Amino acid sequence: MDLKSLTFEELQKEMNVLGEPKFRAGQIFEWMHVHQAASVDEMTNLSKALREKLKENYEYTSLKCARMQESAVDGTKKFLFELSDGNYVESVFMRYHHGNSVCISSQVGCRMGCKFCASTLDGLERNLLPGEMLDQIYRIAAITGEKISNVVVMGTGEPMDNYDNLLTFIRLINDERGMNLSQRNITVSTCGIVPKIKELAKEKLQITLALSLHAPTDEKRKKLMPIANSYSLKEIMEACRTYFEETGRRISFEYALVAGVNDRDEEVEELRQLLGGLNCHINLIPVNPIKEREFRSTDHLRVLEFQKKLEKYGINVTIRREMGRDIDGACGQLRRRQMSRQQD
Ligand code: SAH
Repeated sequence: MDLKSLTFEELQKEMNVLGEPKFRAGQIFEWMHVHQAASVDEMTNLSKALREKLKENYEYTSLKCARMQESAVDGTKKFLFELSDGNYVESVFMRYHHGNSVCISSQVGCRMGCKFCASTLDGLERNLLPGEMLDQIYRIAAITGEKISNVVVMGTGEPMDNYDNLLTFIRLINDERGMNLSQRNITVSTCGIVPKIKELAKEKLQITLALSLHAPTDEKRKKLMPIANSYSLKEIMEACRTYFEETGRRISFEYALVAGVNDRDEEVEELRQLLGGLNCHINLIPVNPIKEREFRSTDHLRVLEFQKKLEKYGINVTIRREMGRDIDGACGQLRRRQMSRQQD
């Protein structure tokens, strides 16, 4: 059992099991989530005996930074963290005018199979625990010495494929006795697992849901994203409407532009049919090419043109700033490089 993955209430129960007074839970929770202690030994207001007892009975997630790459272009920092079982995950630190943002991974690998994505090339290894998601943020805060104001779950993995741990992670990072990060400053991105979107809607959280659309028709989407064989765009749009009705939060659609594949006038018209009149927002991302696949990214002028044409139809469009391209910015690239280095 990982101490850092326990909710406050679960931690109180564990103190009870250990025969410790209830207030110990508050002390330990504060050490983990406010001071973001890297080990139990840092919890100096606990007796040595209790610290030993904690170490004997629980795991304590503390990621090791195996590598850090800093972009010479925009200051983006990419981290490769080693987990206690020897697996690696990557996370990214980005500076925006509205504050610093950390992009975290939710799984080791991924089983969704999106054609343009490096994270999925070797399939899913395992889910990340809530504590392992949190610690990516805590370690980055400690290493950079910067305040983190936004978290996006857009790294390796499909968060809805690790739903229970994702929800515990959100509750922990949002806990006012811990890091107390506002739900509005959290974005979760999904390839579109419809039943989980509906389940999440019922939680009525104030987080932002980003939907990876990438193509405007089922037929075209199936060519890029295998998940499109399981859920149609009709079902996805209905789930998005439910999410908006339950939470009042507008959905953000992600659209990775691939030259000649989904960036033509034809797709503009199809997007208009799909999204026109909907209270939404679309985020255009020139695809980050990976060496294992042929996809080329749309050139900058065409991206601007694509944006203008959508805006003419009343669709809100932003273009994702491309950050960290010089440092393997795309999901999964850094971990793959580490894995091939170990095989050499
Ligand atoms: N599995 C989730 C979250 C992780 S991926 C999802 O599918 O949304 C985060 C975003 O990056 C998704 O929109 C994904 O489609 C996109 N992405 C993955 N590889 C990319 C690449 N090479 N270039 C541009 N975007 C990519």
